[in-house]
Amino acid sequence: MALHEKDMIRENLLDDVYASASLAHSLPKYRIPDTEQDPRHAYSVVHDELMLDGNSRQNLATFCQTWSEPEVHSLMDECMDKNMIDKDEYPQTAEIESRCVHMLAELWNSPEAANTIGCSTTGSSEAAMLAGLAMKWKWRAKRKAEAKSIDKPNMICGPVQICWHKFARYWDIELREIPMERDRLIMSPEEVLKRCDENTIGVVPTLGVTFTCQYEPVKAVADALDKLQADTGLDVPMHVDGASGGFLAPFCSPDLVWDFRIPRVKSINSSGHKFGLSPLGVGWVVWREKEDLPEDLVFHVNYLGGDMIDFALNFSRPGGSIVAQYYNFLRLGKDGYRKIHTACYETAEFLANEIEKLGPFEIIYNGQMDAGIPALCWKLKDQEAEGYTLYDFANALRSRGWQVPAYSMPANRQDLVIQRILVRHGVSRDLAVLLLKDMKRSLDFFEKHPDHASLAAEEASGFMH
Ligand SMILES: *Cc1c(COP(=O)(O)O)cnc(C)c1O
Repeated sequence: MALHEKDMIRENLLDDVYASASLAHSLPKYRIPDTEQDPRHAYSVVHDELMLDGNSRQNLATFCQTWSEPEVHSLMDECMDKNMIDKDEYPQTAEIESRCVHMLAELWNSPEAANTIGCSTTGSSEAAMLAGLAMKWKWRAKRKAEAKSIDKPNMICGPVQICWHKFARYWDIELREIPMERDRLIMSPEEVLKRCDENTIGVVPTLGVTFTCQYEPVKAVADALDKLQADTGLDVPMHVDGASGGFLAPFCSPDLVWDFRIPRVKSINSSGHKFGLSPLGVGWVVWREKEDLPEDLVFHVNYLGGDMIDFALNFSRPGGSIVAQYYNFLRLGKDGYRKIHTACYETAEFLANEIEKLGPFEIIYNGQMDAGIPALCWKLKDQEAEGYTLYDFANALRSRGWQVPAYSMPANRQDLVIQRILVRHGVSRDLAVLLLKDMKRSLDFFEKHPDHASLAAEEASGFMH
């Protein structure tokens, strides 16, 4: 080898990443490059671009986990190759999934926790899809048995997360979404009853409504449906969307009756990656009893001797976040979950009190345990008087990295704009105080520069929606 070639190779090996020849120009963005890159160089390029995403810990919009213990990182790494669908290949991962289902059934007071039926999913959206399908199948079988028409199924809910709009559209269900009315921002038993008929496949209350974070009144709705059945014979089942609340209420509001203690509740979904404290990619759905999940929707796997069901929209799917869910159950126990979530509720209430003291805001939901999830939301007392909007305020906070979303309500309160903070594991009291300081700073700025506020908003509005 010629001397100069050796020098060149040595030089390449020792190159500082950012002084390397391959990073001396921008890499192609919309076509695969022709040649290979040094892994360190490619890593730096990708890693650095991700900086522009912002800091997830300051994202107070998301319900999902943004902090995990080092042990969870290790398990996720160890499970990179675990394919959840290969229950034969990875029987222990499948066994762990099955244990989690039983633990959740017990947590949600299933009458038959030891003999329960349920599965993991990629999140609550897939779980909702599966639970919704089960409701549709059950309704259809009943209608067929009575020789009645099956072409107009409907489902009743309050202001729901988008996954239920998807479910309704994909599977041809009429969604009877109860509109908001003045200060009533969630479903009420009266409004549910008005919409029930023989084509109702189910009523779906949400435990932790996306817009305001409040719990819908599951028990009161169930009682109303009991009365409806007594009066008319109409028997309408319920599914609870406990995407957030399913991992909160059992620990922090044990006296709130919302789960399988109510016989009418036939299934429950929850997001492991929200208040289940697991990394992204896991949700759960559990049915009250085996009969609540129609047989012909389910594919059975008998490799494990037990009753391992395969009911999913995906085939291959990563196992790591399911394993991490199991780790969390063992690591934290019920006490640990209660402690973490209680700290979040206390910080939410603290923030609600302090934000109210700032002056211009009226708190709509203050993170009160038993009423909703550890979160808070507010509106402007008088938008005209202030000369800025909540979109302006969100944009001002964004300049310090905080993502505190402002958004308008669905029908019939599209006029109402609110702003919301989710207090999750890792949103510490100290961080909350730093946020409050930035809130005060932004309001002071608006006061001194009234013209700047709305200008900034116009630029931001596209992005904020
Ligand atoms: C987040 C959420 C969903 C969707 O859950 P994913 O786990 O994100 O798929 C559904 N319903 C409610 C109430 C939610 O908060």
